[in-house]
Amino acid sequence: MGDKRDIHLDLPAAVLRVIELLEDGGFEAYVVGGCVRDALMGCACSDYDVTTNALCSQMEPLFTAAGLRVIETGIAHGTITVLCEDLPIEVTMYRVDGPYLDSRHPESVSFTRDLREDLARRDFTINAMAYSPKRGLVDLYGGRDDLAAGVIRAVGDADKRFKEDALRIMRALRFAAQLEFTIESATAAALRENAPLLANIAVERCAAELVKLVCGPGFRMPIQDYTEVLGVVLPELLPMKGCEQNNAYHPYDVLGHTLVAMENIPAQPELRMAALLHDCGKPATYNDGGPNQFNPQQDRRHFYNHPAVGAKIARAALERLHYPRDFIEMVVFVVGEHDAYLKEDDVNIKQWLHRIGPERMSALLYMKHADISALDPRCHEWLPIFDRIRANMERILASGDCWSLAQLAVKGDDLIAAGVAPGPELGATLERLLDAVIAGEAPNEKAALIALIR
Ligand code: ATP
Ligand code: MG
Repeated sequence: MGDKRDIHLDLPAAVLRVIELLEDGGFEAYVVGGCVRDALMGCACSDYDVTTNALCSQMEPLFTAAGLRVIETGIAHGTITVLCEDLPIEVTMYRVDGPYLDSRHPESVSFTRDLREDLARRDFTINAMAYSPKRGLVDLYGGRDDLAAGVIRAVGDADKRFKEDALRIMRALRFAAQLEFTIESATAAALRENAPLLANIAVERCAAELVKLVCGPGFRMPIQDYTEVLGVVLPELLPMKGCEQNNAYHPYDVLGHTLVAMENIPAQPELRMAALLHDCGKPATYNDGGPNQFNPQQDRRHFYNHPAVGAKIARAALERLHYPRDFIEMVVFVVGEHDAYLKEDDVNIKQWLHRIGPERMSALLYMKHADISALDPRCHEWLPIFDRIRANMERILASGDCWSLAQLAVKGDDLIAAGVAPGPELGATLERLLDAVIAGEAPNEKAALIALIR
């Protein structure tokens, strides 16, 4: 079956060892799925999956006898994790999925002696290949050709596969974004057709796929061409499409502007999600402001208060998708403040640092840079301001200059010793002293600051 013996994949020694232990024990063993795909593309792989015809009860003793630690992660699904040279390797028995009744999970899983059946249950051709150093590549569905052509194609009947498990719809879009692949036409049609089934999938699982999608280099195609599909998970996207801005600064509709902003922000989950949602308040705040000073043919549309409205919409969306608390707070902050006016002088930067801290300040600067990059090129002359603000911020942070109460040379106790009554007044006084230090009106020295309150 492993016909393609000419192919040699570089695998970590730990993975080769696990395969060898199984083979020496008289079983078949292959690496399978994502790690084969990644190895064929020459990319780094984060998790290695091994598939074998050994039962869990048969593989465990082989690993423990070799001194490897075995973690019983999913015995019910035929999976154990072997720790080999600190690399966790998931080893799963050849498996077939029982009938799917709810477009979510199989009623049961059962085990098979035939690798072909295990590969047939996998989602896409590029994920349905197995490789053994001894027997070569097993590629029953043309995965290698699809990988070379950059195509996501369902294994078998696409419609049936998405009906079995609708998460595969999100996975298809996510892989398209991560790998910058196209989606084969029958797979694409079935994916659109079955999109409503995504409503049956646990929100956490859709949310995890969405983050991987927005962080992928090819996020534009799935967001632009499959907006309605993604809209099942994130309906907030739908009104952004076709929401024309037609003012002199905006050559794109809201979704088009959003995509360019995303292209101009680093591929980090919070930043990409903030860029995706930064203007989600625009459709609801649309206001036709009359003639445009640059081009009388166009009207000058406004979206008053859209950051605050957007922050509310974004919060509701992210909470519905059960993202982690810190993630939500960061994204909502950036959405809500993306129109903030930042200046490059040290006093202004320190005031912002005091108000929001370095992490949020950095995120906000990325957002503003991305937002302006997605405006009409006439506005791009503003971009260097944000580079200067970031450079100044980094200089301030490295210098140890005072911008926070933690750095202020007086503490609450010092003020009490100087006769200030404990209570809200104390906090307000510390804030006033910090303001004075930031503004350069007082040195950050205890005696000088105490003298100031007297
Ligand atoms: P990555 O780990 O890089 O996100 P992956 O392809 O390894 O990508 P996993 O979720 O780790 O994705 O799954 C491992 C393999 O299991 C896949 O390559 C695929 O063969 C199979 N698989 C995972 N999820 C599904 C699913 N919902 N339906 C069918 N097969 C799946
Ligand atoms: Mg994986």
